[in-house]
Amino acid sequence: MALMTGEQYIESIRKIKPEIYMFGEKIENPVDNPILRPSLNSVRMTYDLAQDPKYADLMTVTSPFTGEKINRFTHIHQSTEDLKNKVKMQRLCGQKTAACFQRCVGMDAFNAEYSTTYECDKKYGTHYFDNFKKFMLYVQENDLTVDGAMTDPKGDRSKAPHAQADPDLYLHVVERRPDGVVVRGAKAHQTGIINSHEVIVMPTISMGPDDKDYAISFAVPLNTPGLFMIVGRQSCDTRKTEGSPIDVGNREFGGVEALTIFDNVFVPNDRIFLNGETEFAGMLVERFAGYHRQSYGGCKVGVGDVLIGAAAVIADYNGCPKASHIKDKLIEMTHLNETLYCCGLACSTEGHPTEAGNYMIDLLLANVCKQNVTRFPYEICRLAEDIAGGLMVTAPSEKDFRDPKLGKYIDKYLKGSEDVSTENRLKMLRLIENLCLGTAAVGYRTESMHGAGSPQAQRIMIQRQGNLAYKKELAKAIAHIEE
Ligand code: SF4
Ligand code: FE
Repeated sequence: MALMTGEQYIESIRKIKPEIYMFGEKIENPVDNPILRPSLNSVRMTYDLAQDPKYADLMTVTSPFTGEKINRFTHIHQSTEDLKNKVKMQRLCGQKTAACFQRCVGMDAFNAEYSTTYECDKKYGTHYFDNFKKFMLYVQENDLTVDGAMTDPKGDRSKAPHAQADPDLYLHVVERRPDGVVVRGAKAHQTGIINSHEVIVMPTISMGPDDKDYAISFAVPLNTPGLFMIVGRQSCDTRKTEGSPIDVGNREFGGVEALTIFDNVFVPNDRIFLNGETEFAGMLVERFAGYHRQSYGGCKVGVGDVLIGAAAVIADYNGCPKASHIKDKLIEMTHLNETLYCCGLACSTEGHPTEAGNYMIDLLLANVCKQNVTRFPYEICRLAEDIAGGLMVTAPSEKDFRDPKLGKYIDKYLKGSEDVSTENRLKMLRLIENLCLGTAAVGYRTESMHGAGSPQAQRIMIQRQGNLAYKKELAKAIAHIEE
């Protein structure tokens, strides 16, 4: 089976039965939980779109390993064309969900592991590339969703992993056995992990020789004993339990993050992709982060498209689509959003093959892409809120709107343009609220800041990749300075 339908995906997740906690309770049926289901629906979209002939070229690709049609989310990039198509696919998925569709972390981990394990094996004669390839084929053949877990809790940021007061603040090997290793630690704010079949764990920073036990990378299924998740709270999350579709803004889709605990988890030898080769930890981090910073030039642009559309619709509903300042704000939002897309495409176009043969983005441009993402969605939200007006945060609830006594007053006094129903106006305002301040803000606004690394992480990479020495030489040559 090379491609699963959306329905098959949902049923496959239902069978896994991972250990998930939320609001102090164990969630026995996450698939049908009203707070968690929208997040699952977003991942489902990556399966549904792959079944649609209209999007086949973007969503699917022939695997060079199996010769079968696979979902692009499980693909190892073979060209700059593949890198560009990845960004275009992510924009499409963002447009169709207006949320984080979560499956990209696995794809980005795949491509980082593919090249890093190859280079590590070349240096040390290890067998990580074979291990990874076996896992990759299993994922491609079964069309699985894989989470990529990188971010450790990190404790005291001034100290290396081995120097932390609590050794578990970075995930590490606690026992070495003939058949594998046992690991302990946690990975914070794990996007999509509750909707994944498998998780690839990677180190979170460059490491020195003393961090050997922390330089560990592997993959395990989500129902592995000792692995459990505590779902993060989101603004307005319990609105999803109230049965008021208008109030949630986006009734079908969302995204969920979880603190993921590895409490003495056993990893068999053939699922290990790095184990003590500390100098390759930094390479894995840099490559994964680079790919994921490219990703944001696609997914956030797609969600931005929905927000720009929502701002334009509410301008119509408010009766002011022709006001010159409104038109100008929509132009500015579009300019910012397309600038992010330019960055996503540019770092893809300038990609290059790795030693293993898969394609890597241009790291400088990918980091510039993500640095812009830490800013522009904030401005896009600001302009959307400006256009929407204060009613976006002061409108009464759907229950009041449906109330026999109150409803007619809300309908009368919150009406905008005379040919638009108050209900439609409220729906659009709630969508903007959802994207800028509600549950989707986790995946759009704040994730734009911290997802794929906080702004300073990109600035360090920009400094490293910016080649200032060369630029100084250019200036001296033009000024005819010889030293
Ligand atoms: Fe994909 Fe974007 Fe979500 Fe990351 S933030 S998983 S790139 S949709
Ligand atoms: Fe993310």
